[in-house]
Amino acid sequence: MSLSRIWVYAQATDGKVATITLEMLAKARQLGDTIEAFYGGADADAIAAQLGAHGATKVYATGDLDGALHGVPVAAAVAAAVEAGDGPDLIMLGTTYDGRDVAGRLSVKLDQPVITNVVDVELDGDAVVGTEPIFGGSTEVKTKATAGGPAIFLVRPKSFVAEESGGGAAEVATLAVPDTGATGGARITERFVEEASGPKLDEAAIVVSGGRGLGESEKFEMVEQLAKLLKGAPGASRAIVDAGWVPYSYQVGQTGKVVKPSVYIAAGISGATQHMVGMKGSKNIIAINKDPEAPIFSVADLGIVGDVHKVMPKLIEALENR
Ligand SMILES: Cc1cc2nc3c(=O)[nH]c(=O)nc-3n(C[C@H](O)[C@H](O)[C@H](O)COP(=O)(O)OP(=O)(O)OC[C@H]3O[C@@H](n4cnc5c(N)ncnc54)[C@H](O)[C@@H]3O)c2cc1C
Repeated sequence: MSLSRIWVYAQATDGKVATITLEMLAKARQLGDTIEAFYGGADADAIAAQLGAHGATKVYATGDLDGALHGVPVAAAVAAAVEAGDGPDLIMLGTTYDGRDVAGRLSVKLDQPVITNVVDVELDGDAVVGTEPIFGGSTEVKTKATAGGPAIFLVRPKSFVAEESGGGAAEVATLAVPDTGATGGARITERFVEEASGPKLDEAAIVVSGGRGLGESEKFEMVEQLAKLLKGAPGASRAIVDAGWVPYSYQVGQTGKVVKPSVYIAAGISGATQHMVGMKGSKNIIAINKDPEAPIFSVADLGIVGDVHKVMPKLIEALENR
């Protein structure tokens, strides 16, 4: 059994399709016969080849949104297409700011529930079933969409592996945006791009994260230094984000980023379930903690029971001398 048609919300920055979009396309290919994307913006031609290479045959694009926030026009356009009888069986959106915005608005317009926080999707006959972690990732529940219209699923990044399928460029079709009135009035007037050197946290092959065990904000420098030497990205527990030592963009976990690097080094992090849900899929986990009973050791492949202030400088020195 497979679904006849699935729509994936395509997001892109500077002509590069977001990894979450490609991850959803990979999963959609396993579930449906026709995989299509929808996109807010005028530059769909620039991303049609990437979408096609990952299995989308068509991309429905709104065209220029005149600086509008995407949620209102994209949701209105998709809802209008569905109401006109041209909708899919399943709409997959990534758990991103715009993805959540579009999903919430679609839910209201189509009077359909949104299944959120989805980490897996399967079919039960012709019904779509989502898997979501609950209680900080300690257990999983399955939710079947039975409402009858297109199922709306918000998918967590890193739930699936993006893989090319070798298709040609997706055909670009028009997704007409109806008049959204005053709701569509908000405009993006300026964008700020956070300065960053090195790989992005959620795409890095090596992540070095620091926690409260570092003792003080200045000591986060050890994390940054180690990450740089390993050509990786620095990350953090929520405790030190909340304490203002590092920006929120560094946070790994349930309410931060999900990472799946080859190597994850946790320094002075206890291993609360809310942290572990964001990193336990890493291939190799190395934990440095002075408490041998720290929960992080339960998921670690290599555990170093010791003081971060002694272990990390030695690691940094060894790498510098290589
Ligand atoms: C709804 C909700 C969402 C949350 N989301 C997240 C999230 O996304 N990400 C997240 O990280 N947390 C999240 N949390 C918070 C989480 O529950 C923990 O409070 C947090 O992860 C703890 O951070 P920590 O491990 O740095 O600090 P602590 O738990 O205080 O642990 C510090 C560790 O450092 C060790 N240590 C101390 N000194 C040293 C030393 N000198 N050398 C070596 N080790 C040392 C200690 O033994 C201890 O294990 C969330 C909580 C809630 C309620």
